[in-house]
Amino acid sequence: MPLNPADDCFLSALEGALPQGRLRAPKPHELAEPRGRGAAIAAAIACPHTVQEVSVILKACNNALVGLVPIGGGTGLVMGQGLQSGPLPLMLSLEKMAAERAAYGQENVLVVEAGMILANVQNAAQNLERQFPLTLASQGSCQIGGNLAANAGGTGVLRYGNARDLCLGVEAVLADGSIYHGLKRLRKDNSGYDVKNLLIGSEGTLGIITAAALRLYPAAGRVGAAMFAVPSVEAALALYTLASEQLGGMVSAFEIISQMSFAFLSETMPDLRQPFAKPPAWTVFIDLDLVQGLDPEAALATLYQSAEGQGLVTDGVIASSSTQRGQFWHLRESLPLANRKVGSVSSHDISLPLGALADFIAQAGPAVAALGDLRVNCFGHLGDGNLHYNVFPAKGRTRAEYEDLRLQIKGLVHDIVASMGGSVSAEHGVGRLKVDDLARYSDPTKMAVMRAIKNALDPNGILNPGVILAPLPLRS
Ligand SMILES: Cc1cc2nc3c(=O)[nH]c(=O)nc-3n(C[C@H](O)[C@H](O)[C@H](O)COP(=O)(O)OP(=O)(O)OC[C@H]3O[C@@H](n4cnc5c(N)ncnc54)[C@H](O)[C@@H]3O)c2cc1C
Repeated sequence: MPLNPADDCFLSALEGALPQGRLRAPKPHELAEPRGRGAAIAAAIACPHTVQEVSVILKACNNALVGLVPIGGGTGLVMGQGLQSGPLPLMLSLEKMAAERAAYGQENVLVVEAGMILANVQNAAQNLERQFPLTLASQGSCQIGGNLAANAGGTGVLRYGNARDLCLGVEAVLADGSIYHGLKRLRKDNSGYDVKNLLIGSEGTLGIITAAALRLYPAAGRVGAAMFAVPSVEAALALYTLASEQLGGMVSAFEIISQMSFAFLSETMPDLRQPFAKPPAWTVFIDLDLVQGLDPEAALATLYQSAEGQGLVTDGVIASSSTQRGQFWHLRESLPLANRKVGSVSSHDISLPLGALADFIAQAGPAVAALGDLRVNCFGHLGDGNLHYNVFPAKGRTRAEYEDLRLQIKGLVHDIVASMGGSVSAEHGVGRLKVDDLARYSDPTKMAVMRAIKNALDPNGILNPGVILAPLPLRS
């Protein structure tokens, strides 16, 4: 169904239906794309204070066939939080819905509104002497609603799962304004289709998540971290197997960092202290959260010794204090910023079966090099099989010089991923950036099911037009 622009007539009717001050102009950073790929358009931003007000807004959009684009912290990297062309949409921000609704310490459950910043959710959990283990470099600005909408991953997935695994229930508003009261705190609930899990990861295309019941974990026990230099990706994977055997589920992060990642840090953040004088080909960052009574430093030293005996490591630094562990984390979390400063030609958030990771890197590297003078910065969540495989201009050149190669690089990388049974969207989602990739690489039956669900829940296509499935509206 073609959509209409959110014109003055629509906006003044909506303003009249809401308490005063619920509509405002978008701020420049809300229309900007985090990687500088164009600007979004919007007639206004609606900032509701309650779920009932969200319902009024959605009803108005649905009746007037006006597109609605939800924005959380705006840190999504697949252009889901901004429409760049077509009829002017209304944007929706839950910045005024950021309260803690309830805490159930004994149950390990925290109920918060969707506009709460992730770091504030983590702090609220800490106040209960618990932890909320969703950990992203963007946690200071992304919102829990955006995390759930994108089913965010991050560095804690290995042990605690992704956003979906950390959520027991949601409250949401559907396209026609109806409210889904699904804020359950149940760990078992086989009562029909799982609407919560359908909404999580739907990137604002099926409903607006307004609140969530989140799963907390006991506060971290004895934590520790290390950076181990490894000679190859195969060695990193063998080290992961060894770490799993020795430490079981107590490995909370197992990340891989390429030599190029450290070069980018030197290039863009020269003051950042690095663990090795000469960065090795590959570095593994391991974080442990051990039960009381165990010593992380000793556990990491034992792991290093066994790995050295098998030729899996060539150097290592084990954090001897929480400050040093913090420095390791800071370094790891600075990688996306370093990437952004250098400016990628094409970025790929991919996942592969663990057994295919080394083959992928061995194939993709030479294939990308054959296309031109490019640099590859590969890092990511090795234990999850999730790599950020990003391609950059040669030193001294700009990404604009490679614009004509961008789609070719993306196609090449994604074709290799697909041929190995991987996914071209591991944790960042599809947004508007990967709509074509999804259509190209997905199972046709899955696509048909997704279309049927979208048509059933949002028959007018007002919710986040152009994201995941819908083509951009034709009428302007
Ligand atoms: C430096 C950096 C590091 C990052 N690291 C990671 C990482 O390790 N792992 C990872 O998974 N991601 C990562 N990201 C991506 C991003 O932070 C996550 O996708 C995050 O979950 C997005 O949250 P947000 O609040 O910023 O959402 P936004 O970017 O504002 O929105 C994301 C999507 O959700 C929709 N949406 C937002 N709020 C709602 C809502 N309440 N209801 C329905 N739909 C909604 C939007 O329309 C959009 O489609 C990183 C990004 C940056 C900039």
